[in-house]
Amino acid sequence: MKPTLEDARKFDAADPLARFGDLFLRHEDPVAYLDGNSLGRPPIATITRLQGVLEHEWGGRLIRSWTERWVAMPTEVGDRLAAAVLGAAAGQTVIADSTTVNLYKVLHAACSLRTDRTEIVVDDANFPTDRYLVESVAASRGLTVRWISPDLVEGVTSALLAEVLGPDTAAVVLSHVDYRSGTIADLSGLTADIQRCGAVVVWDLCHSVGAVEIGLDAAKVDFAVGCTYKYLNAGPGAPAFLYVAQRHMGAVQQPITGWWSTADMFAMADTYEAAPSITKMLSGTANVLGTAAVDEGVSMVAEAGMAAIRAKSIGLTEFVIEMAADLDLELVSPRDAALRGSHVSLRSPHAKAITTQLIERNVIPDFRNPDMIRLGLSPLTTSYAEVWTAMDILGDVARQIGLKAQSTIAP
Ligand SMILES: *Cc1c(COP(=O)(O)O)cnc(C)c1O
Repeated sequence: MKPTLEDARKFDAADPLARFGDLFLRHEDPVAYLDGNSLGRPPIATITRLQGVLEHEWGGRLIRSWTERWVAMPTEVGDRLAAAVLGAAAGQTVIADSTTVNLYKVLHAACSLRTDRTEIVVDDANFPTDRYLVESVAASRGLTVRWISPDLVEGVTSALLAEVLGPDTAAVVLSHVDYRSGTIADLSGLTADIQRCGAVVVWDLCHSVGAVEIGLDAAKVDFAVGCTYKYLNAGPGAPAFLYVAQRHMGAVQQPITGWWSTADMFAMADTYEAAPSITKMLSGTANVLGTAAVDEGVSMVAEAGMAAIRAKSIGLTEFVIEMAADLDLELVSPRDAALRGSHVSLRSPHAKAITTQLIERNVIPDFRNPDMIRLGLSPLTTSYAEVWTAMDILGDVARQIGLKAQSTIAP
């Protein structure tokens, strides 16, 4: 039975995370925001925090704030993220740069651990930045790219990896949640497969961090990167994170060897000496305002708890799938909630037109070339009633466009 608005309101009344909705800035428009997997909403606490950084830390303490507070932020906030969200012990995570830049650093660092090997493995369904960087890092190090082509819904499997892994594999780059289908990859199983052949793994967590439970230490992951402006709600251009397993800390080398990656940045030494700790992965001056925003986003996720966030995410994606059941749209995301991240992708030859009309009616989804409508469900900010409204309007729009398309083909 298709859920009613009454059902949606009942789910909201029973939702243990419902109170978080009021902790975010929102306006009347849009009526439904289903793009929190691309850009999360602003927490009200972030506005207050940034104002404090501007007025007191910057305006009041001026340059003294660097040593009093700011220099430590990349590692302090990194540790908070690691504990609340990544399943990682302290000392392995920093907040810095963008995902793209961190991926560049981490890919080189991964290859620097396996200089006797000649191949990097990546899937052709991976996010563009990941594919492009693998190609450029491989080219600059004289390595070969081994491509795998996963099924969109099934994603990267152990069997598919087995076809390319071997004694020449240096590193493998994978996304935890596929940015198009929303399929969750088996993080610990695939990590074990990759390490069994002597290679190291780099996980891109952009689409899982803050939405899906992650256990980097338990899975013995080597490297990970991810962004903070999606489910962590840190805002446009907020700095990303980077994780290096403690066991690699001594050996890894990264290519952007700036003064922030040295043991004593204020020594301004004649020659470069990398820090022995995770700070060796930093490069230049921290983005203080952005990192403060990451801290606020992480605090909210920590307060809610990843188990409750994941439970609501499953509830919301199930709700969308039930609402979409009688529409002429193909479900691209896995039907099994255990294999699905926090967005639902629906396919239609009219996807572009449907998206345009949804936006005209103040519902914001996401469109992925050429034929996919992506509905992002951000557990801290999305209510069931909001989803019901969006899906009701989507049904309306899809039916009208479908009917029009039919009438143009009819004799
Ligand atoms: C969003 C996203 C990125 C973004 O990288 P930026 O450097 O922040 O532009 C990278 N990888 C994946 C899988 C993403 O979903």
